[in-house]
This record gives sequence, C-alpha cells and structure tokens, in this order.
Amino acid sequence: MRLRNIPGAREVIAESEFVIKEEPAEGVEVDDRYHKAGDKWVKEGGRRVLGDWYVKGHWNEVFGNENPLRVEIGMGKGTFIMRMAKAFPEINFVGIEKYSSVLLRAIQKQEEENLPNVKFIRMDAEYIEDVFAEGEVDRIYLNFSDPWPKDKHAKRRLTSRQFLERYDKILKADGIVEFKTDNDDLFAFSLEEIPEAGWKIEAQTFDLHSDVQMNEGNIMTEYEERFSSQGNKIHKVIISREKVQS
Ligand code: SAM
Repeated sequence: MRLRNIPGAREVIAESEFVIKEEPAEGVEVDDRYHKAGDKWVKEGGRRVLGDWYVKGHWNEVFGNENPLRVEIGMGKGTFIMRMAKAFPEINFVGIEKYSSVLLRAIQKQEEENLPNVKFIRMDAEYIEDVFAEGEVDRIYLNFSDPWPKDKHAKRRLTSRQFLERYDKILKADGIVEFKTDNDDLFAFSLEEIPEAGWKIEAQTFDLHSDVQMNEGNIMTEYEERFSSQGNKIHKVIISREKVQS
C-alpha cells in the first residue's frame, strides 16, 4: 500500500504523540557526527543510529504498565491494530509502517479514538531489532504483507528466513507469529521458509473464514475485508520456534 505523497505527513508524524520517534537512548553519546534529518537521527554519510532507540527494552515505561506487547509489521492504515487494541485493552500494541502517507491514516484514527494501548513507528521493519530488546515482544502479526514476487527480492518478504531470524531475537521464548494473506505464492513460500528457519507450524489453514476453529475471534484487516469480499480465500499460519529457548 503506497498512497501518493501527502504534503505535511512527515510533519504530522514528527509532532504526533502517538508515534514513537527515533531518538538515541539516554547515555548514548550523540556527538558531532550525528544530526537530525526530519524525525531521524543520522550519522555523517546518512547512516542510521543503529541499536540506539530509547524505547528498546523500555516499552513497559512507554505504556506505563507491565502488559504484554504485540507488534503488527506493515500495519497499513491501522484498521486491524486499532480493532485489536479496542478488543484487548490489557495488551499493548505497536504498529510499524514504512510509509508516512499510510501511517498518517492510522494516526488520524488514533486521534479520534485515543486508545492508551497503541503506539506507532514509521520505519522499515528490517531494523526491528533496534526497537525491541531480546524477548520483549509477545506476538507479531503479519497481515497481507507485500509479496515481492521476484526471486531476487525474496529476502524482503516479511516471512523470509532473514526476517524470521530478526523475529527470533525480539520474541519471547514461547512467542508466536501470526501471518494472514490471500497470496498463494507468498503463502507457499512462507510454509517452506518456516522449517528452514528453525520454526514450526502450530496451526494453518488455506481458508480461514471457513475454518471454524481458526476463525474464532478473527479480527479482519482492511485488506482481508477487501480481498475476501472479492471471493479470495484467506490463508493463515501461526508459527513458533522449534526449540524453546531458555
Ligand atoms: N496490514 C494491512 C492490512 O492487512 O490491511 C496492510 C497491508 S499492505 C498490503 C502492506 C503494508 O506493509 C504497506 O502499508 C507497506 O507499506 C507495509 N510494509 C511493507 N514492507 C514493510 C517493511 N519492511 N517495514 C514496514 N512496513 C512495511
């Protein structure tokens, strides 16, 4: 999902209390090599300040409670995460979205709802380990992720082994990833990557809306509503790590 550039989107994001900004952690020395470009701290030559986000390991303080933390990667306009946050007020939700123009829509929803258990980050999920500490996340949702159909782009798919390795770092030992899509090729690719990356399938279906057990309590995403209304079958897989870490 990439909306046309919306003038002022970056400014709204920079000002929004609902968006966690990329700021170095306390105690991280920010010397002359760093400067702020928009809402990002960058190093000379434009390199990001890796691993230095102040929120990493401090999400309980951000939300002001000890509730579990769940993350949606590629949340788009935030329909799913806002519905989830309303349904589960005792869980904290963080929505990650790469594009400002899309994130803006989620901010607008949150400005109306003002839910205390939702925050957003504008970032490429490639850097997700900068934002969450080891074992800090309880569950990750991937909904209708971009398919990246060319083989040479396979590692950009959010269910690739490269991404599963990142999730492995930030998820609790018994944490899970839930993935929904209507894309046959992306689903097939994901089912192959899961064991290769050392994960196991807890449950799967090729037709979620006809699967009584897996569909129980299902909360629809924007894309899920759109594609299922066109007659597409929704596939879902829930995965966990093969080895439970100590
Ligand atoms: N999850 C929503 C839904 O189901 O309605 C939106 C699905 S949309 C097809 C995929 C979204 O993921 C887009 O908004 C895209 O910008 C975002 N996205 C894709 N790759 C991403 C990445 N590496 N990091 C953050 N967001 C990403």
